[in-house]
Amino acid sequence: MSSDLRDLYQEVILDHGKRPRNFRRLDQPSCSVDGYNPLCGDHFMLDLQLDGGRIADIAFEGAGCAISTASASLMTEAIKGRTVEEARQLFKKFHRLILCEAAPEDGPPLGKLEVFSGVHEYPTRVKCATLAWHTLCAALDGQHGTVSTE
Ligand code: ZN
Repeated sequence: MSSDLRDLYQEVILDHGKRPRNFRRLDQPSCSVDGYNPLCGDHFMLDLQLDGGRIADIAFEGAGCAISTASASLMTEAIKGRTVEEARQLFKKFHRLILCEAAPEDGPPLGKLEVFSGVHEYPTRVKCATLAWHTLCAALDGQHGTVSTE
């Protein structure tokens, strides 16, 4: 990766870490799940508003490190308005990106989520980067309460 690209990615992560988007609670969410990463202390409440098979609205609140906050923020931007199936496909792609594996061709493009492509170089940060996504999957699977990365 070029250093210019690395700087750009760093900038996006810092921006979303400082000023997270969709950082609020929903009034009447279809489902809410808490995500917790005890290794770092990241803790988020994720609210989803489902409309048929579509994620009509999504928001999160809580506290975490810059990586986990930016990841949750960028995730909400990436999946708002998408179908549940598309959200699952995106998670699969995102997870491959984080683990530095080849991404499947199908499904929506990663777009801004590519900024996390360098995270595999920092193994302790992988759980920070994937916490919001694991929480999302738990919510889509109908789980309640708290999910933990451990
Ligand atoms: Zn963290």
